[in-house]
Amino acid sequence: MKKSCQTKPEKRWNLTPVSQLNSHQKNHKRATSIGRLAAGWMILQTFFLATPVLAQQKLKNDLSYSQFLEKLEQDQVTKVELDDTTNQASVTLKGQSKEDSPKQVVLFDQNQDLIPKIRAKNVDLSLKTSIDRSQTVGVLLNLLIFFVLLSGLIMIVRRSASASGQALNFGRSKAKFQMEAKTGIQFNDVAGIEEAKEELQEVVTFLKEPEKFTAVGAKIPRGVLLVGPPGTGKTLLAKAIAGEAGVPFFSISGSEFVEMFVGVGASRVRDLFKKAKENAPCLVFIDEIDAVGRQRGAGIGGGNDEREQTLNQLLTEMDGFEGNSGIIVIAATNRPDVLDQALMRPGRFDRQVIVDYPDLQGRLGILEVHARGKKIAAEVSLETIARRTPGFSGADLANLLNEAAILTARRHKEAVTMLEINDAVDRIVAGMEGIPLVDSKAKKLTAYHEIGHAIVATMMPSHDPVEKVTIIPRGGAGGLTWFTPDEEMGLETKSKIIAKITSALGGRAAEEVVFGQDEITQGAGQDIQVLTSLARKMVTKFGMSDLGPLALEGQEQPVFLGGDSGGRNEYSEEVASQIDVRIRNIALDCYAKAKNIISENRLAVDRIVDLLIEKETIEGKEFRELLAKFSPVYASEQKTDKIHSLLKK
Ligand code: ADP
Ligand code: MG
Ligand code: ZN
Repeated sequence: MKKSCQTKPEKRWNLTPVSQLNSHQKNHKRATSIGRLAAGWMILQTFFLATPVLAQQKLKNDLSYSQFLEKLEQDQVTKVELDDTTNQASVTLKGQSKEDSPKQVVLFDQNQDLIPKIRAKNVDLSLKTSIDRSQTVGVLLNLLIFFVLLSGLIMIVRRSASASGQALNFGRSKAKFQMEAKTGIQFNDVAGIEEAKEELQEVVTFLKEPEKFTAVGAKIPRGVLLVGPPGTGKTLLAKAIAGEAGVPFFSISGSEFVEMFVGVGASRVRDLFKKAKENAPCLVFIDEIDAVGRQRGAGIGGGNDEREQTLNQLLTEMDGFEGNSGIIVIAATNRPDVLDQALMRPGRFDRQVIVDYPDLQGRLGILEVHARGKKIAAEVSLETIARRTPGFSGADLANLLNEAAILTARRHKEAVTMLEINDAVDRIVAGMEGIPLVDSKAKKLTAYHEIGHAIVATMMPSHDPVEKVTIIPRGGAGGLTWFTPDEEMGLETKSKIIAKITSALGGRAAEEVVFGQDEITQGAGQDIQVLTSLARKMVTKFGMSDLGPLALEGQEQPVFLGGDSGGRNEYSEEVASQIDVRIRNIALDCYAKAKNIISENRLAVDRIVDLLIEKETIEGKEFRELLAKFSPVYASEQKTDKIHSLLKK
């Protein structure tokens, strides 16, 4: 069978397409098309080989050797053509029409007696040597496979080459910095950070009128570092400088310098400064510079090569501008402590401007800025909002007014009222409002807990006044007592801190006094954490205990630098246990005091709790009136308070 399959290679292999194949090559057609063609061919071949019907059809025209001999004996044969390569004979029979092709006979290898027999019959005999097609086919097949493999290889190589080309072009081609020809932001869009603005006013002058400074031989500073917590307006301030000076603003974030590939950051720095020089005078703003400007070689395992290269490039570029090229670099960070010393050297970021949280006046200013574009009802007092929002950054305040506007739209109102603003504050400070509890023991416990806070706080003269008490859950808390911060967080007296600790314990005290030792809840956990840290600070930081005015917790860092980290404890084990004793004493004393207040005002507690369960929220003013009504102690204290405040005035 195998042999018979190979009898007519020319039928299976039409050779013309092979030459087409070659012409394809000559035409330098894409390697893929050759590959496809070749693959098509392979499939075609297997198709023919594997189709028995086609193979058998070819046999129809054949004679077996014995049939051939028989015909020869019977003088039926007129012509025989021997082919020694395929070892076949083409036999033409008597009476065969011209169109019919000769019969094919497969011969044995050894058939010496055949030729004499043919001769004897006087049949026309000829010999031919055909090209061994089977071998040609084999060679072609090998070639084809070779081509397919080769083109596949070329494709793979090309693809990976283009990928690595992209990688190498990463730093160069993609401009990661933004350029604003005009920021459109002026100094009066920035409020609440007046000192910073004043400092930077000078930078505007440098950019606008450099001659003023160069005339007297002054060198224009190159870099200003804005230091402050997130959202306080550092980016805004930098934009305002560019806006005021009317120069282009280039900005990039420190983290964008750092990429997977070493050297990319450095090339971005070069790119940035190249563009900046072309556009001088201009302002280059590098946000979050701590991402690249960290202390070099400080990382575990030898630091980060890429970051160091980037930083080095940045330093080189900053040294590189000749005298007064009109480029000022402003960088922002909230981690000045981690920055490399080399960045702070004169001639680099030698000016540092602190941009801190705004104070009351500042918040008012920021609220005014952001109220400009909004419809706000006449009754809204921005000052009241500013009072309610100590510790809010500029971004928080902007967000607050926006949230209030969204609420207004949702409620289909014409203009933003105090209601929306207060809701927005609550939401930003304490999280989303939850669903009120159904009447249950939990609700009752929560009400007692919150009223406990409120009453203890109100009975402590130095405590901030209650703004409202609510048992509507919010942001994970079952209920909340809000206080109106009296003044800025600036100064805290000892009595004020003690009052805070006591009122923080008011919730737990009410639980215990009303429901007994065994019914106290885990709801006081948060309160206890707060008061413990306050008590610890009193002892170890503020020197407010009989251990004396000693800093026992190491240096205090600005709040926004991440609190207590970095400070080492500078005391012995002995002192440590003394500290623990003092902290415990403060907490226990305050707890006793809180329980005392609850017991003394038990009637008022019960009455106000009933009302709170009914109304779910009680405003501060109403709360104080209720307390005065039910608590003789509070009523009398209020009278003396009034006298005190009258005396003060
Ligand atoms: P930072 O860069 O310090 O993190 P941004 O400058 O990005 O803060 O401030 C974010 C947004 O908050 C500003 O676009 C602006 O709307 C608002 N904002 C922040 N600070 C102020 C400010 N002092 N005055 C007015 N708006 C401010
Ligand atoms: Mg910013
Ligand atoms: Zn509580």
